[in-house]
Amino acid sequence: MNVTMAEALTNNDAKLVWKDCLNIIKSKVPFLTYNTWFLPIKPVELKNSVLKIQVPNNFFVEWIDEHYNSVINHAIKEIIGSEAQLVYIILEDKDDIVAEPERKEEKPEIKKQEPADNEEEKFADNLNPRYFFENFIKGEGNQLARAAAVAVSENLGQTSFNPLFIYGGVGLGKTHLMQAVGNKILAKDRSKKVIYLSSDIFTVEFVEAIQNNTVNDFSNFYKSMDVLIIDDIQFLIGKEKTQDLFFHIFNTLHQSGKQIILSSDKPPKDLKGLNERLISRFQWGLTTDIQPPDFETRIAILKNKSESFGIQLSGDILEYIAHNITSNIRELEGCLIKLLANSSLSSKEINLELVKKTVKEIATGRQINISIDFITKSVCEYFSVQENKVREKNRKKEVVIARQIAMYLSKVLTQSSLKTIGLHFGGRDHSTVIHAFNSVEADMQRDEKLKDMVESIKNKIEMSVS
Ligand code: ADP
Ligand code: MG
Repeated sequence: MNVTMAEALTNNDAKLVWKDCLNIIKSKVPFLTYNTWFLPIKPVELKNSVLKIQVPNNFFVEWIDEHYNSVINHAIKEIIGSEAQLVYIILEDKDDIVAEPERKEEKPEIKKQEPADNEEEKFADNLNPRYFFENFIKGEGNQLARAAAVAVSENLGQTSFNPLFIYGGVGLGKTHLMQAVGNKILAKDRSKKVIYLSSDIFTVEFVEAIQNNTVNDFSNFYKSMDVLIIDDIQFLIGKEKTQDLFFHIFNTLHQSGKQIILSSDKPPKDLKGLNERLISRFQWGLTTDIQPPDFETRIAILKNKSESFGIQLSGDILEYIAHNITSNIRELEGCLIKLLANSSLSSKEINLELVKKTVKEIATGRQINISIDFITKSVCEYFSVQENKVREKNRKKEVVIARQIAMYLSKVLTQSSLKTIGLHFGGRDHSTVIHAFNSVEADMQRDEKLKDMVESIKNKIEMSVS
């Protein structure tokens, strides 16, 4: 491949800048994390404060974005400046070329910090571009709900499925499906006004509108939608005023043939505590449930997701997971992510043994315990204080600080009682722990630097055990 001089220069800049970023990152994350997630990243180009970095696969992007977004963001801003932006490029496995990912969802440029200059006029639709029909696996449990959702998206305003009401347990795909409708409608016609939000956000916004005297604007905004998608409507239970307002919005939209899509954990008739007139309206359209996926669907979902993470799992591994994680698609997904993390953290390949261990962690819902000793060790490392000093009656300033922060984090990160925590620090009593907790908290309020320090130790601890 020929590289022009200008390209060579920007590539070189990228390398230099990335090296500095790595130095910062290295000081903030555990060694293993650094090796696993940051060393494989290759800087590609630096142009106008936009740094392009290349990662091995999709999974990397998701993992980094979810867990280390703030670390990485902080580093590039420190090195490049506040206008710095990051763009991930996913290495195409086949011929080793650098390719811009095609789909929007594969390209999480750290969007939040971007000025939305071209989007000034448009409100946030809150739709996640990751959710579309093509990556929603069909199965017996979701067949009807999916078919209805597709029908609504293809014949907007022409079906009798208004509202479309989808209910079912957690992690079964309700949110995915509703958002897929929104994304599909917008893909066909950008001018449609579509908005997605959960009912608790709706409530929060409503309360704000009351405080700001803008209830009319609030109400008119939602009445002006072509498609109103409200998730987890059960959170309106007990919120009479919000229910009243929603009732009016619902009526206006329904009368003018605008689409309403709702979800809930229960069918409308079981939503005790919701106004009867709302419940009856929810039943005007189509009510459909989503059931947990059957074995075949679970396999299909696992296959599909693992491929999208760029890994291939053998038949027996897929089956083992599908046999053992049965009730919830979010858990299936969580299992794959955990599996990848476990394998890359320990540099082990994904074999049945690792799978069994991971499934066990998920199935028992067991959080890996963070021990008080581990917290103490991490804090002492951070302050270069000997561990035994914090357990003794040492009044040196840095020892006292380390001890107090270790006590504070023990309270925050473990379920241990004050008494237990005290015992770990040389048999101090609970009032000492309370005192430490309160003074660290108060100091953090006053002192940004200390706050950052404590946050960073906390992050380190959490990352090294997750
Ligand atoms: P719910 O809203 O019912 O709690 P979500 O829509 O949030 O569930 O789904 C949980 C996760 O499982 C999401 O990441 C979603 O993409 C995924 N998921 C759910 N159902 C399917 C499916 N049929 N095919 C592919 N992924 C699915
Ligand atoms: Mg949901």
